[in-house]
Amino acid sequence: MKVVGDLLDSYPMFGLCLVHAHCTLEPGEIMLASGHVSEPVLLTDTVKYYPERWTSAGRAYKFRTEPTEQPPTELVSCFRAAVGELYEVLGLYYAGTGKQIHQLERTEGRRNVLEDFCDANMNVERLETNWKDFGSGNPVTMTCVIFCDTTTTRSGGYHKNTKTHYRQ
Ligand SMILES: [Zn+2]
Repeated sequence: MKVVGDLLDSYPMFGLCLVHAHCTLEPGEIMLASGHVSEPVLLTDTVKYYPERWTSAGRAYKFRTEPTEQPPTELVSCFRAAVGELYEVLGLYYAGTGKQIHQLERTEGRRNVLEDFCDANMNVERLETNWKDFGSGNPVTMTCVIFCDTTTTRSGGYHKNTKTHYRQ
């Protein structure tokens, strides 16, 4: 993982993520983040969306309403080589230029809601899902509250439909 960390530290606009989803998408839907809320949206001509997360193969699987940048081709190829056998579970996310703070993601039905992590969340069962700034010694930038089934498929970053993370 040190190779991955060193690689990403030289591309500060991108971070490492666990490729997973909290719900199953229906045909025509994408997972779209707007502000602190992500939810499935049926694509229409009027929906504006930009890729925010990519599999190690460079395929976008999550989107947001604000513009992003594509990971450079050399980053994707080096990343793919660096993750080795973990290529199905590790991906890239667009972090932008702002300071990254640790956020907590909760599932509410098919919506995922982000909040800033605070000490009150310390004992909540959660899974680390985003990392950045590996040289800092404190790279975690997101944890998910509910246990995420990280099984993915070759074609996408979707869970098996086991609903282990619908616990409310
Ligand atoms: Zn999650």
